[in-house]
Amino acid sequence: MTDHVHTARERDAGPGHAVRVREAVKRYGPVHALAGIDLDVAAGRFLVLLGPSGSGKSTLIRTLAGVERLDDGRIELGGSVISDRRRHLAPERRDLAMVFQDYALWPHLTVAGNVGYALRRRRLAAPEAARRSAEALERVGLGALADRYPHELSGGEQQRVALARAVVARPGLLLFDEPLSNLDADLRERLRVQISTLTRDSGATAVYITHDQSEAFALADVIGVLDRGTLVQLDRPEAVYARPATPFVARFTGLAGELPGRVVATDGDDVVVCVADRRLRSRVVGTVGIGDEVTLAVRPAATTVLPADVPAPHGSLAGTVVDVAYRGRGYDHVVTGPAGTLAAVFDQRSRPRGSTVEIALDPAGCVAYPIAPTRCHTTDVTVVSIAS
Ligand code: ADP
Repeated sequence: MTDHVHTARERDAGPGHAVRVREAVKRYGPVHALAGIDLDVAAGRFLVLLGPSGSGKSTLIRTLAGVERLDDGRIELGGSVISDRRRHLAPERRDLAMVFQDYALWPHLTVAGNVGYALRRRRLAAPEAARRSAEALERVGLGALADRYPHELSGGEQQRVALARAVVARPGLLLFDEPLSNLDADLRERLRVQISTLTRDSGATAVYITHDQSEAFALADVIGVLDRGTLVQLDRPEAVYARPATPFVARFTGLAGELPGRVVATDGDDVVVCVADRRLRSRVVGTVGIGDEVTLAVRPAATTVLPADVPAPHGSLAGTVVDVAYRGRGYDHVVTGPAGTLAAVFDQRSRPRGSTVEIALDPAGCVAYPIAPTRCHTTDVTVVSIAS
């Protein structure tokens, strides 16, 4: 094995490095920050690791960067082992760059100096280095600010410098540690688009961590969901949305509500669930039979307020509007009925508080999970396999 991962010049024309993680374990005293992670990211793909605080996202990205050592397991980058029980390649030899939540610019260097610094290991002739730095700054819209110091920039501008610094040396792997968390909503959206465009244009493989599900869905080719040091699902965003592998994944990626029900019919990938005397068609994850109790997880997009006298082809629930929130394009309603409560029920028209409404449910946005008989409290995660 070489003692470094291919230089940027060797991979200028090709895609980034494939990442392979096997049985990765990292302990902090009694805490398993990584409890045995297996993960593959194909060359040039954009992986977003999504999970709540404490789920192990930072630990995983820090072990990829090489600033933390694994206790067990292995990491390969571009086919070379960079981390295992005996070997630990130093961060600067890994052909990667990282963008941090707090920007982490050198305060004593100008904008151009910060970006150019990333090229010092590439042994480029000075004019070529200057050209590349200027081009990277132009791409993030900061060509005019090259001579400023970081303290003379806004937070958004500092993060764009950090982005230019990350891509300028064309590393095979880009790591992003919650880079948008310190920015306000409007700026977040614009910078997210820049991150997506620059990363994809560079051809690098990307690993991006966030606790924000909308950011994850917007950016990812592949989403990995972490729960207490374990990777519970690794899939395309569409698959995570349509078939969340566990109730935890469903909750963390956005639900209107969870309703208790009982299976009354099965039909291939679908089941019919009786919820408060209504029959609803739903997808199912896990193995269920007729008579089994299930939890019906409902995505917000699966709910529609039915106009009067319009039948719902796959079933509907009755309820009373208890709250209305204006969202610009229309209104989100909170509706409570005998089955439970559904939030974020969207309609272009506002329905008054206290009015009775009928909510149609689209089976494509409903998932039934078997209720494990050993469940002892409501926050337990029921681990079930994904039906293929
Ligand atoms: P996330 O990035 O998803 O918030 P982390 O990877 O930071 O999660 O943390 C995972 C778990 O490891 C948490 O329980 C956290 O408290 C613990 N942990 C992380 N870093 C350390 C550390 N340096 N010392 C002790 N415990 C740590």
